[in-house]
Amino acid sequence: MVFRADFLSEGQGRRRGSQKILLVEDSRMFTSILSHRFQTELGLSVTHCPSMKTMNEALAADDHGFTMAVVDLNLPDSPHGEALDVAITHHVPTIVFTATFDTDVRNRILERSIVDYVLKDNEFALDNLVSTVRRAISNRSTRILVVDDTPSARCVLVDLLQAQQFKVVEAGTGVEALAVLDEYGDIEVVVTDYHMPDMDGHELTRRIRRRYGSDRMRVIGVSSSSDRLLSAAFLKAGASDFVYRPFVAEELQCRIALNVETLMQMKQLRAAAASDYLTGLYNRRYFYDHGPRIVNECLRHQRPTSVAILDIDHFKHLNDTYGHEIGDQVLKAVAGRLHSLFEGSENLLSRLGGEEFGILFTEMDSRAATELCEEVRRNLSNLKVNADDEELSVTVSIGVADIAGYEAFENYLNAADQFLYMAKHKGRNQVFSDVRLTDEAAH
Ligand code: GH3
Ligand code: MG
Ligand code: MG
Repeated sequence: MVFRADFLSEGQGRRRGSQKILLVEDSRMFTSILSHRFQTELGLSVTHCPSMKTMNEALAADDHGFTMAVVDLNLPDSPHGEALDVAITHHVPTIVFTATFDTDVRNRILERSIVDYVLKDNEFALDNLVSTVRRAISNRSTRILVVDDTPSARCVLVDLLQAQQFKVVEAGTGVEALAVLDEYGDIEVVVTDYHMPDMDGHELTRRIRRRYGSDRMRVIGVSSSSDRLLSAAFLKAGASDFVYRPFVAEELQCRIALNVETLMQMKQLRAAAASDYLTGLYNRRYFYDHGPRIVNECLRHQRPTSVAILDIDHFKHLNDTYGHEIGDQVLKAVAGRLHSLFEGSENLLSRLGGEEFGILFTEMDSRAATELCEEVRRNLSNLKVNADDEELSVTVSIGVADIAGYEAFENYLNAADQFLYMAKHKGRNQVFSDVRLTDEAAH
């Protein structure tokens, strides 16, 4: 259970594999800004086509290769949105970017299955477009459950959501919906009808709320009933939102997007609260919040468990000699190495503060943990940090304590801290534990 706050790097042009976007736009100004922003902010590679002719050529050369297309409706050789039809024919999810807009155009666009449309009529047009592309890409990793007993009504919703790139699963009854929620662990939004044969939407919402809070699961009620109290009752039952049928596509889309965004913000808040700002590892708060639960779980299943505190040797001296910034670099390097050493394991690694790290071992008694820590110690002593034209290296001391019975979490850490103190006292750059104490006494 190793953690790095990946959200910290969000939006810094992280490369998204080889995702490609087709930008069909004749305005040079829009093209150059958008190409730049798609590349740097979203990490997409951009194929630009100033006309339908070049668009056809690009698609012929690279069919199925485009993650998404942004299409201007008014191009020199396709003044009436013909380029949009080309993109749709090639099954490229498309966002329309247009200056010409009225009800007719809107209806014509929405007849096609597009991701969204963005108008060029305001100063935020480019920001809106970039956000729309970003959202469409991130929708691909969000799963939505649609619950409706009428297949045709369900189909309308599923089509709308799939056009927006969501992963969609369906259920025809409340009972089925609850089973699907169990089956898929990653559903984040449920859109549910009110009238259903086995349980109504209010009851389903209440049952979902018994299991999932609104910070992890959004429930959106829908109904064609003219009863205004229906929406109020949905919200009182714990729904996050409500939309009347027949849908206005844009309204449904905006409400879903707002709910998904709220979930993402919650996720980021949780991650920020759990993460150490300098190293991206779990922080002390997370370690102390989750450690006791993990220990109890291990003890209940009679699994061996132990805890270690690792402390960099003479770190104050390093700070005093090279300065705080270099000290920070060394801390990051040590954290990075620890992260990769423990990545993929169930052990809980965190930065407890300063130059001190805590590791909670599951499935390992103190003898096994002592051996592993010995490897960690050796590995870290080979770490080289380039700073100020010098190659710096550090050593660490580690104290390991066995966790044998139910006690206050603090006590386990105090025990590890005492062994750490002994490791320091014995000259640093070593691992000390009850095992070593016993072994030494025996000799
Ligand atoms: P010992 O071998 O006994 O552990 O000695 P030490 O110098 O490593 O330990 P001490 O506790 O005396 O000093 C720890 C130093 O770590 C003091 C503090 O300024 C520094 N420190 C704490 N947090 C940070 C940080 O976030 N960045 C940097 N650069 N230094 C930090
Ligand atoms: Mg144009
Ligand atoms: Mg130290």
